[in-house]
Amino acid sequence: MLYRAFVIKYAEIGIKGKNRYVFEDALVRRIKSVLEDVEGTFDVYKQQGRVFIKTGLDYDYDETIDALTKVFGITGICPAVITEDNGFDDLAKEIVEFIDQEYEDKNFTFKVKAKRARKDYPLDSMELNAALGEKLLEAYPTLKVDVHNPDVMIHVEIRESINYYSKEIEGPKGMPVGTAGKAMLLLSGGIDSPVAGYMIAKRGVQLEATYFHAPPYTSERAKQKVIDLAKTVAKYAGPIKLNIVNFTDIQLAIYEKCPHDELTIIMRRYMMMIAEHFAMEDNCLGLITGESIGQVASQTMQSLFTTNEVCNLPVYRPLIGFDKQEIIKVSEQIDTYETSILPYEDCCTIFVAKHPVTKPKLDRIKKSETKLSEVIDELLEEAYKTTEVIEVR
Ligand code: ATP
Ligand code: MG
Repeated sequence: MLYRAFVIKYAEIGIKGKNRYVFEDALVRRIKSVLEDVEGTFDVYKQQGRVFIKTGLDYDYDETIDALTKVFGITGICPAVITEDNGFDDLAKEIVEFIDQEYEDKNFTFKVKAKRARKDYPLDSMELNAALGEKLLEAYPTLKVDVHNPDVMIHVEIRESINYYSKEIEGPKGMPVGTAGKAMLLLSGGIDSPVAGYMIAKRGVQLEATYFHAPPYTSERAKQKVIDLAKTVAKYAGPIKLNIVNFTDIQLAIYEKCPHDELTIIMRRYMMMIAEHFAMEDNCLGLITGESIGQVASQTMQSLFTTNEVCNLPVYRPLIGFDKQEIIKVSEQIDTYETSILPYEDCCTIFVAKHPVTKPKLDRIKKSETKLSEVIDELLEEAYKTTEVIEVR
């Protein structure tokens, strides 16, 4: 059947009192925003601790579900019927018809789970369960009631209006974006950083991103790949301001002046510094990377310590304890994997040493960096000035 409404479920734990409004309003805003790109018209509103969507006559069901399954904060999407109160007999008739349309084969067990959210309805929840169950058994004698483990749970909610549904599509959970401030994602073309961004956005955090490229050593295709990844993450996280930093001259200077086994670590320190510069400018409260302990030489505990040392903002590393396979699994779920594995060159791989240090000493690294002191301020200034900004949505 073509549904005209959806009941949106969300976890209510930890969102009591004032937080509840912040949560619900952000959720409604995100739902409205993702539905703007879907064919059809939608009325999204909250009522008595629930969020509802009413659709126009013409809309694309699959696109709607696809969009809603990317809204953090939603735990379940229930295609539903919203109806007015015309007495119990009418309601029973409607639900009998609804079940007929929903389930061609009537060989299943069911349970009616009614909820009376206004006390002036003549039947209470228990009486509704029994009375509606009876009507259904009368209409379809092959049905069976199973109150413990039913195949189909028929939900009926008596509120200002009445709604009923029997199916629930899993939502992405988490918190609605916009309930937790903003953070700066260091977004590369790899597998890890898009997943890291997704995970932090899932906690309600709005994302901004910074990508370092090194033309002509890295190509336009490599840059486009990062824009595409940002687009995929933005389906969940909402619009992302992407800073594209020209990193070539800084990398060349490091290559020219610093010990080659320290290149990666010094480069990573400058990446963090530059990302933090933009983060501070735009009121971000933290940085996000896709680092995971021990994954590569630049992600040993010693390397992370040395990289972290340049940062003043907290650095969020949601993948820190993940194995590569676990990260890949999430990247497949969120649909970034296929883009991430496209074989375009990365700015880190081009200037990489044969034997990078795995246990950098902070004082040694700082000493090496002094060799850049004559040029670095100007190079940083130039990098800030030439940064390209793209609004990804
Ligand atoms: P990823 O798959 O995310 O690229 P990686 O396994 O290749 O990670 P590194 O190259 O050591 O690991 O990078 C560690 C983190 O540093 C990345 O997860 C990302 O957050 C950031 N980073 C690395 N390269 C870039 C880049 N070119 N632009 C922006 N951020 C970067
Ligand atoms: Mg990488």
